[in-house]
Amino acid sequence: MPEVIVENVHKSFGSVEVLKGVSLTVERGEVIALIGRSGSGKSTLLRCINGLEKINSGRIEIAGHTVSNDPRQLRELRRDVGIVFQSYNLFPHLSVGENIMLAPKIVKNVARAQSRETAEKVLKLVGLSEKFDAYPDELSGGQQQRVAIARSLAMQPKVMLFDEVTSALDPELTEEVLNVMEQLARDGMTMILVTHEMAFARRVATKTIFMHQGKIWEEGASKALFSDPKTPELRQFVKADV
Ligand code: ADP
Ligand code: MG
Repeated sequence: MPEVIVENVHKSFGSVEVLKGVSLTVERGEVIALIGRSGSGKSTLLRCINGLEKINSGRIEIAGHTVSNDPRQLRELRRDVGIVFQSYNLFPHLSVGENIMLAPKIVKNVARAQSRETAEKVLKLVGLSEKFDAYPDELSGGQQQRVAIARSLAMQPKVMLFDEVTSALDPELTEEVLNVMEQLARDGMTMILVTHEMAFARRVATKTIFMHQGKIWEEGASKALFSDPKTPELRQFVKADV
């Protein structure tokens, strides 16, 4: 059974159809890169997948949950699905450790000692063990984004969604965040990531999906897709990046 199933999903904002029948499946441990021009529907698709946007028709299942409008079901789903955005949105008045321990405490009622242990573990995973007591404004953008990823991981998600998490970062900070994501991929995390980092997608993603005008325009094993694009649209997109 795939970890993510998206079946013929349509999504409109007002009279504008943004997703025009999108279908995909993600197996456990797979890493899917979503690429495409700005406005092609990548973020909307990701937000539909974890129920942040309501779909007009179709079906989405993720980590054993059906995405629906039922708030209780959505809460259950979000325990198992982490999402990280371009903006890290850490709580500025809380230390790094407190930022990470907050959701497990509130959502899962995890005891403090245990949530502290988990927080230390995930901070180590993103290479920031020494920052447990630091405050967000004492960290670089790359470090803050790694804390945001750690905060998501503390919920022990089954699937992680990333929406252009490095877009606001300088190249060397981008690198350290990508390294964390690559490590996660190697550890077997199921991931869908929207990215502009074509080299990263090619190297790390098992499959790359090119979205164009609200549709999956072309998809395939990442290396093959990048070295031999079939559609003029993808050819142009790949060329524009280099
Ligand atoms: P991408 O992430 O590929 O850049 P988006 O999914 O953000 O694309 O946007 C796809 C289209 O949907 C764009 O035309 C955008 O303007 C529109 N859109 C996205 N979110 C909303 C919204 N909340 N209300 C109205 N239109 C939206
Ligand atoms: Mg987007």
